[in-house]
Amino acid sequence: MVVTEGDRTSYSGVVRGRTGGRVLHSPHGGSFVFDAGAVCLDFAHTGGEGEYAIFETLHEPADLAEWLAQPPLAAVVTVPVTARELADAKALRQAIWDAAHARAADRPLPADAVATINRAAAAPPLVPALTSDTTAGWVPPVRARQALSTLAREMIELLSGPLAERIRECAGDDCPLVFVDLSRPGSRRWCAMERCGNRHKLRALRARRRTERRGA
Ligand SMILES: [Zn+2]
Repeated sequence: MVVTEGDRTSYSGVVRGRTGGRVLHSPHGGSFVFDAGAVCLDFAHTGGEGEYAIFETLHEPADLAEWLAQPPLAAVVTVPVTARELADAKALRQAIWDAAHARAADRPLPADAVATINRAAAAPPLVPALTSDTTAGWVPPVRARQALSTLAREMIELLSGPLAERIRECAGDDCPLVFVDLSRPGSRRWCAMERCGNRHKLRALRARRRTERRGA
């Protein structure tokens, strides 16, 4: 179900609350806040394979625990993350990344990505728990595998729901960041204004000046 709150459109995902985005660090220095619009998509940007290996942030099981503990997922594991769970997390991350890019490009979803997402989703997910002060938490024991299932289920809901067509790759040159556009008019183009948006504005401004000089 799609709900509208303020100027944003969001969906009642299996993950509670909106993601406020995550700070991404460039291996070449610098950082910026990137909001992928869904926690599963945020998770897809924690690193990668091949050319993206330099962006890796999940080096050891404790790194995964720390990522999962951040809001809005706020899944503080009560059972230490295993090396196997970390490996499965990276496989799920790659599958989410591949599926999101395929959807953004209107290509069929890769079969192996679908299989990996379904396998992760088949595990028992995090179980929500209400406390008497009306805050929500997760029923212990909280395991990383459950959190991965919750992320995989969110991705399934996203890909099969009305916002699937809002999954986009950043319009910046050579910027592979992928997000779900939750703006009401559906006009989001950039991973982050302070990154690709401003670069684009600057380039457009320079091009206009060049044209004006030629015309003068
Ligand atoms: Zn970008």
